[in-house]
Amino acid sequence: MFIELTEHLKCPGAHEEQHLILVPDRMVGRMVLGGTVACPVCRREYPVTEGIVRFGAPPPAPPWRAMDAGLAEAVRALLSLSNPGGYVVLVGSGCVLASSLATLMGGVHFVGVNPPAGVDVTPSLSLLEHSAAVPLRSAMARGVVLGEESATSSWLEDAARVLLGGLRLVVLRAETEAPPGITRLASGQGLWVGEKGRAMRGDERR
Ligand SMILES: [Zn+2]
Repeated sequence: MFIELTEHLKCPGAHEEQHLILVPDRMVGRMVLGGTVACPVCRREYPVTEGIVRFGAPPPAPPWRAMDAGLAEAVRALLSLSNPGGYVVLVGSGCVLASSLATLMGGVHFVGVNPPAGVDVTPSLSLLEHSAAVPLRSAMARGVVLGEESATSSWLEDAARVLLGGLRLVVLRAETEAPPGITRLASGQGLWVGEKGRAMRGDERR
Protein backbone atom coordinates (compact mmCIF):
# COMPACT_ATOMS: atom_id res chain seq x y z
CA MET A 1 0.00 0.00 0.00
CA PHE A 2 1.14 3.49 -0.88
CA ILE A 3 1.95 5.14 2.46
CA GLU A 4 -0.03 8.31 1.70
CA LEU A 5 -3.20 6.25 1.25
CA THR A 6 -3.22 5.69 5.04
CA GLU A 7 -5.19 8.90 5.63
CA HIS A 8 -7.98 7.61 3.37
CA LEU A 9 -8.36 4.15 4.95
CA LYS A 10 -11.57 3.40 6.87
CA CYS A 11 -12.08 0.82 9.59
CA PRO A 12 -14.94 -1.52 8.61
CA GLY A 13 -16.22 -1.44 12.22
CA ALA A 14 -19.68 0.09 12.75
CA HIS A 15 -18.60 3.50 14.03
CA GLU A 16 -17.80 6.97 12.75
CA GLU A 17 -14.96 7.42 10.25
CA GLN A 18 -11.67 8.06 11.99
CA HIS A 19 -8.06 8.24 10.80
CA LEU A 20 -6.30 4.90 11.23
CA ILE A 21 -2.78 4.44 12.53
CA LEU A 22 -0.16 2.71 10.38
CA VAL A 23 2.86 0.98 11.89
CA PRO A 24 4.97 -0.16 8.93
CA ASP A 25 7.64 -2.79 9.43
CA ARG A 26 8.66 -3.32 5.81
CA MET A 27 8.80 -0.67 3.09
CA VAL A 28 10.15 -0.38 -0.44
CA GLY A 29 10.23 3.25 -1.51
CA ARG A 30 6.87 4.70 -0.49
CA MET A 31 5.06 1.34 -0.58
CA VAL A 32 4.32 -0.41 2.71
CA LEU A 33 4.77 -4.16 2.20
CA GLY A 34 4.35 -5.27 5.81
CA GLY A 35 3.04 -3.87 9.06
CA THR A 36 -0.15 -3.18 10.98
CA VAL A 37 -3.05 -0.75 10.60
CA ALA A 38 -4.86 0.03 13.86
CA CYS A 39 -8.19 1.71 14.57
CA PRO A 40 -8.16 4.17 17.50
CA VAL A 41 -11.95 3.85 17.95
CA CYS A 42 -12.60 0.09 18.18
CA ARG A 43 -8.95 -0.92 18.76
CA ARG A 44 -9.01 -3.51 15.99
CA GLU A 45 -5.75 -4.20 14.20
CA TYR A 46 -5.39 -5.24 10.58
CA PRO A 47 -2.26 -6.82 9.12
CA VAL A 48 -0.43 -5.62 6.04
CA THR A 49 1.16 -8.60 4.29
CA GLU A 50 2.56 -8.80 0.76
CA GLY A 51 1.67 -5.12 0.53
CA ILE A 52 -2.07 -5.87 0.95
CA VAL A 53 -4.02 -4.31 3.85
CA ARG A 54 -6.22 -7.16 5.08
CA PHE A 55 -9.36 -5.71 6.70
CA GLY A 56 -11.13 -9.07 6.43
CA ALA A 57 -11.39 -12.14 4.26
CA PRO A 58 -12.40 -11.14 0.73
CA PRO A 59 -15.39 -12.76 -1.00
CA PRO A 60 -14.53 -15.69 -3.31
CA ALA A 61 -12.02 -14.32 -5.80
CA PRO A 62 -13.52 -13.35 -9.14
CA PRO A 63 -12.03 -15.32 -12.01
CA TRP A 64 -9.19 -13.69 -13.89
CA ARG A 65 -10.83 -12.21 -16.92
CA ALA A 66 -8.67 -11.09 -19.78
CA MET A 67 -9.53 -7.47 -20.54
CA ASP A 68 -8.27 -5.98 -23.74
CA ALA A 69 -6.50 -2.67 -24.12
CA GLY A 70 -9.61 -1.31 -25.84
CA LEU A 71 -11.61 -1.74 -22.63
CA ALA A 72 -8.98 0.11 -20.58
CA GLU A 73 -9.05 2.94 -23.14
CA ALA A 74 -12.86 3.08 -22.94
CA VAL A 75 -12.77 3.16 -19.11
CA ARG A 76 -10.13 5.91 -19.17
CA ALA A 77 -12.32 8.00 -21.47
CA LEU A 78 -15.46 7.39 -19.36
CA LEU A 79 -13.73 8.36 -16.10
CA SER A 80 -13.03 11.68 -17.83
CA LEU A 81 -10.11 12.80 -15.62
CA SER A 82 -8.11 15.43 -17.43
CA ASN A 83 -5.36 15.96 -14.86
CA PRO A 84 -3.10 13.73 -12.74
CA GLY A 85 -3.25 13.15 -9.00
CA GLY A 86 -5.58 11.48 -6.55
CA TYR A 87 -6.97 7.98 -6.43
CA VAL A 88 -9.05 5.73 -8.68
CA VAL A 89 -10.60 2.69 -6.96
CA LEU A 90 -10.93 -0.65 -8.78
CA VAL A 91 -13.12 -3.38 -7.23
CA GLY A 92 -12.87 -7.15 -7.82
CA SER A 93 -12.13 -8.08 -11.42
CA GLY A 94 -11.90 -4.35 -12.21
CA CYS A 95 -8.39 -4.62 -10.71
CA VAL A 96 -7.28 -6.44 -13.88
CA LEU A 97 -7.37 -3.05 -15.64
CA ALA A 98 -4.83 -1.52 -13.22
CA SER A 99 -1.67 -1.89 -15.28
CA SER A 100 -3.27 -0.69 -18.54
CA LEU A 101 -4.94 2.25 -16.81
CA ALA A 102 -1.70 3.18 -15.05
CA THR A 103 -0.02 3.41 -18.45
CA LEU A 104 -2.85 5.53 -19.85
CA MET A 105 -3.32 7.75 -16.76
CA GLY A 106 0.09 8.75 -15.42
CA GLY A 107 0.14 10.43 -12.03
CA VAL A 108 -3.03 8.73 -10.75
CA HIS A 109 -2.69 6.15 -7.95
CA PHE A 110 -4.94 3.09 -8.20
CA VAL A 111 -6.48 1.30 -5.22
CA GLY A 112 -7.59 -2.28 -5.87
CA VAL A 113 -10.14 -3.88 -3.54
CA ASN A 114 -10.33 -7.70 -3.51
CA PRO A 115 -8.13 -8.29 -6.56
CA PRO A 116 -8.20 -11.61 -8.41
CA ALA A 117 -5.11 -13.81 -8.10
CA GLY A 118 -2.35 -12.55 -10.35
CA VAL A 119 -2.84 -8.84 -9.57
CA ASP A 120 0.05 -7.66 -7.39
CA VAL A 121 1.02 -4.43 -5.64
CA THR A 122 3.05 -2.04 -7.80
CA PRO A 123 4.24 1.55 -7.20
CA SER A 124 0.98 2.74 -8.83
CA LEU A 125 -1.37 0.13 -7.31
CA SER A 126 -2.31 -0.33 -3.64
CA LEU A 127 -4.34 -3.39 -2.63
CA LEU A 128 -6.95 -3.82 0.13
CA GLU A 129 -9.18 -6.73 1.14
CA HIS A 130 -12.55 -6.81 2.88
CA SER A 131 -15.53 -9.14 2.66
CA ALA A 132 -18.35 -6.69 2.08
CA ALA A 133 -17.27 -3.06 1.84
CA VAL A 134 -14.71 -0.68 0.38
CA PRO A 135 -12.43 0.08 3.37
CA LEU A 136 -11.89 3.69 2.32
CA ARG A 137 -13.23 6.96 3.70
CA SER A 138 -16.15 8.73 2.03
CA ALA A 139 -15.61 11.09 -0.91
CA MET A 140 -11.92 10.30 -1.52
CA ALA A 141 -11.92 8.73 -5.02
CA ARG A 142 -11.69 10.55 -8.36
CA GLY A 143 -13.19 7.50 -10.04
CA VAL A 144 -14.45 4.00 -9.21
CA VAL A 145 -14.56 0.94 -11.49
CA LEU A 146 -16.66 -2.05 -10.35
CA GLY A 147 -15.95 -5.48 -11.82
CA GLU A 148 -18.80 -7.50 -13.24
CA GLU A 149 -19.15 -9.76 -10.17
CA SER A 150 -19.13 -6.72 -7.85
CA ALA A 151 -22.12 -5.03 -9.50
CA THR A 152 -24.44 -5.80 -6.56
CA SER A 153 -26.40 -3.24 -4.58
CA SER A 154 -24.10 -3.21 -1.54
CA TRP A 155 -20.91 -2.67 -3.56
CA LEU A 156 -22.66 -0.12 -5.80
CA GLU A 157 -23.77 1.90 -2.76
CA ASP A 158 -20.31 1.76 -1.25
CA ALA A 159 -18.76 2.81 -4.57
CA ALA A 160 -21.08 5.85 -4.55
CA ARG A 161 -20.01 6.64 -0.98
CA VAL A 162 -16.25 6.71 -1.68
CA LEU A 163 -16.62 8.70 -4.91
CA LEU A 164 -16.17 12.47 -4.93
CA GLY A 165 -19.15 14.56 -6.06
CA GLY A 166 -19.25 15.38 -9.79
CA LEU A 167 -17.04 12.40 -10.66
CA ARG A 168 -17.64 9.04 -12.33
CA LEU A 169 -18.46 5.42 -11.56
CA VAL A 170 -17.92 2.78 -14.29
CA VAL A 171 -19.66 -0.60 -13.82
CA LEU A 172 -18.46 -3.49 -15.99
CA ARG A 173 -21.96 -5.00 -16.24
CA ALA A 174 -24.56 -3.22 -18.32
CA GLU A 175 -27.77 -4.55 -16.74
CA THR A 176 -27.53 -3.06 -13.24
CA GLU A 177 -29.43 -0.23 -11.56
CA ALA A 178 -27.55 2.91 -10.57
CA PRO A 179 -27.25 3.29 -6.76
CA PRO A 180 -28.79 6.31 -4.97
CA GLY A 181 -26.86 9.50 -5.69
CA ILE A 182 -25.50 8.30 -9.06
CA THR A 183 -27.01 9.48 -12.33
CA ARG A 184 -26.54 7.07 -15.20
CA LEU A 185 -24.98 8.86 -18.18
CA ALA A 186 -24.42 6.18 -20.83
CA SER A 187 -24.17 2.46 -21.37
CA GLY A 188 -23.02 0.01 -24.01
CA GLN A 189 -20.46 -2.71 -24.72
CA GLY A 190 -21.22 -4.48 -21.44
CA LEU A 191 -20.72 -1.49 -19.14
CA TRP A 192 -22.31 1.72 -17.95
CA VAL A 193 -21.05 5.00 -16.54
CA GLY A 194 -22.69 7.28 -14.01
CA GLU A 195 -21.85 10.51 -12.23
CA LYS A 196 -22.21 11.34 -8.54
CA GLY A 197 -24.28 14.39 -7.73
CA ARG A 198 -22.34 17.27 -6.26
CA ALA A 199 -24.80 17.80 -3.45
CA MET A 200 -24.21 14.51 -1.64
CA ARG A 201 -22.88 14.73 1.88
CA GLY A 202 -19.13 14.43 2.22
CA ASP A 203 -18.07 15.75 -1.16
CA GLU A 204 -16.36 18.87 0.12
CA ARG A 205 -12.96 17.62 -0.98
CA ARG A 206 -12.06 17.46 -4.68
ZN1 LIG B 1 -12.64 0.60 14.14
